Amino acid sequence: SGKFFVGGNWKCNGTKDSLSKLVSDLNSATLEPDVDVVVAPPFVYIDQVKNSITDRIEISAQNSWVGKGGAFTGEISVEQLKDLGCKWVILGHSERRHIIGENDEFIGKKAAYALSEGLGVIACIGELLQEREAGKTFDVCFQQLKAFADAVSSWDNIVIAYEPVWVIGTGKVATPEQAQEVHAAVRDWLKKNFSVEVASKTRIIYGGSVNASNSAELAKKEDIDGFLVGGASLKGPEFATIINSVT
Ligand code: 13P
Repeated sequence: SGKFFVGGNWKCNGTKDSLSKLVSDLNSATLEPDVDVVVAPPFVYIDQVKNSITDRIEISAQNSWVGKGGAFTGEISVEQLKDLGCKWVILGHSERRHIIGENDEFIGKKAAYALSEGLGVIACIGELLQEREAGKTFDVCFQQLKAFADAVSSWDNIVIAYEPVWVIGTGKVATPEQAQEVHAAVRDWLKKNFSVEVASKTRIIYGGSVNASNSAELAKKEDIDGFLVGGASLKGPEFATIINSVT
């Protein structure tokens, strides 16, 4: 449902030189036209990437400050991101939730502010291994989803990224069936809490050890509308293969 959406989350990786090479690989790759493609460089390289990458690819930030800029040492405001040409921001990534300690309320406020200023939000949700093993996957995902839902008035500019935490950067992949099960439940949650229209239009993308060898199988699943790719998005040809796995 919705146009296939593939994001590359470069996390805290890269140098001026390595990202210049990555951008030139992406600029020369052949990409399926019917896919929205977004890359999220580290803040300090957004300007470089935006100024050198093809207009075919949109830019996302990996985080944003919760409100208007000002005396907030070390933060980056939504207004500054827009000034650099960003169209999107990733919020609620598990690394920010579990390593940096952001909670649902803070993430919800960030989403509300970014959306109110016209940025699209890639809203991340996902359970820890112990939560999955305790049978709490849906509870955790729905609670995180609710925090986004409570903060926003329209779903038009939101992409939901389901990233099971136990699959991120571990080389372990959720099976396409495990991913599909949660994606279908998320869509059902949107239907029950919002509308059939919101459920069918909102893109639900999958993240966690997606690579060129597993993306085609995952992309076949009915409720998987794209990917949020970490490690494999740092390799231009592999990222292009993942983008082109749209069915
Ligand atoms: P990996 O693809 O490296 O597992 O990272 C996934 C991710 O966290 C994307 O946001």
